[in-house]
Amino acid sequence: MPKNQRKDRLIKEYIHDPYFTKEKYNDPSVCEKCGVVFHDGIFQWMKEVPSGATKMVCPACRRIEDKYEGGIVYLEGEFLQNHKDEILNLIKNVEEDETAYRPLERIIEIKEEDGKLVITTTYEHLARKIGEAVHKAYKGELNIQYPEGWKYIRVSWKRD
Ligand SMILES: [Zn+2]
Repeated sequence: MPKNQRKDRLIKEYIHDPYFTKEKYNDPSVCEKCGVVFHDGIFQWMKEVPSGATKMVCPACRRIEDKYEGGIVYLEGEFLQNHKDEILNLIKNVEEDETAYRPLERIIEIKEEDGKLVITTTYEHLARKIGEAVHKAYKGELNIQYPEGWKYIRVSWKRD
């Protein structure tokens, strides 16, 4: 995808995010928690922080701090119990791939609740990607809902 088109899309995705709009990020600036750089109007990973970058905390780190998730994934069923490590590895790989390209997409927390694996993510995109990846790899039933519009996603996957 051409760079400008990608940039436009990334801006559109975050423009309605309260964690994006309530701050006026200096350009360039760098997150003092994760090192992501806000530069040329987008968040990006850079090998070298541009000179003159001011310090800030990025929207992803703020969401992680506040546990303000944009998506939640529930995984359940007997298959999960027997393949938990494998599935957790897959989830970590999906996160790495997505975060490399979209720096604000992160996992907030992975926990176990009543035999379910519950994963919260900073934005809806990563939750959907995790659900789709698990479904693609292991079949089972995938259910995706947007209970509050496109900004929040609830993903459930089950295989007995
Ligand atoms: Zn950060």
